[in-house]
Amino acid sequence: MQGHGQAGQQKDQEPARAPDERGRRTRWAAAGRQVYARAAMVAAMGARWSLGAWRAVVPALLPSACALCGSVQRDVVCAPCAADLLRPMRRCPVCALALGRRADCPACAAMPPAFDHACTLGDYASPQDKLVLSLKFGHALPLADWLAARLAAALPAAWAAQRLAPPDLLAPIPLAPQRLASRGFNQAWEIARPLARRLGLRADPVLLRRRRDTGSQRALDLAARQVNLRDAFRLTRPARLDGLHVALVDDVMTSGATLHEAALALKAHGAARVSVIVALRTP
Ligand SMILES: [Zn+2]
Ligand SMILES: [Zn+2]
Repeated sequence: MQGHGQAGQQKDQEPARAPDERGRRTRWAAAGRQVYARAAMVAAMGARWSLGAWRAVVPALLPSACALCGSVQRDVVCAPCAADLLRPMRRCPVCALALGRRADCPACAAMPPAFDHACTLGDYASPQDKLVLSLKFGHALPLADWLAARLAAALPAAWAAQRLAPPDLLAPIPLAPQRLASRGFNQAWEIARPLARRLGLRADPVLLRRRRDTGSQRALDLAARQVNLRDAFRLTRPARLDGLHVALVDDVMTSGATLHEAALALKAHGAARVSVIVALRTP
């Protein structure tokens, strides 16, 4: 840690991050004064406000810190950070891997996936990985709605580019029951639910279930992941998905092995096409 040694030598000097911290405290104090000033103005008006009016005014009264850079503004993620995350990038249409200058996709060459199309907002890399980490481990649920809104804005063009009709059904990748119980929510469903609402599509939170807890796959290579996940998913109830286009929704695609297994389960029940919608994709 850069700041520790310096702090030991010169006690009066604050660590390197302090000016930024001071700036942040100043911004918060200024934002706080604005909140009280606006609240006082609203109270002084003495008008009877409808629920719609309150819905419009509350976001203006309550500033929010950008989940990525911490700047105080009115959205979950500030406009410059959002623009950075959503920078257009050439991606594999099947697995959404950023291709850079490569003509062919190395991921699809190594393991042709059972799904047909994938779309993502950006790479699962710093700093935007914080969006998913804060959602999952910090229970920052408004981030799920923000990610869903960005996906809802991007997906129609992505489907049109592939001449795909919108999916008939959205299905979140389920958590194992133990993990769902300890976390209290499934982040994939928290993204899929507002996404379906925004796109006017049907979503089924329990279409798929995990047959067993496959544990963390982080330490496993692709071949080991495939073995670990084999037959991991089942449909919750006997159903046919004949001819349907089903979209799997998840927070992150890493190797794609989980989504591949889920797509196999859907296709075994007749799904004609499986798309993948993920907030972020491991580069
Ligand atoms: Zn920001
Ligand atoms: Zn690919």
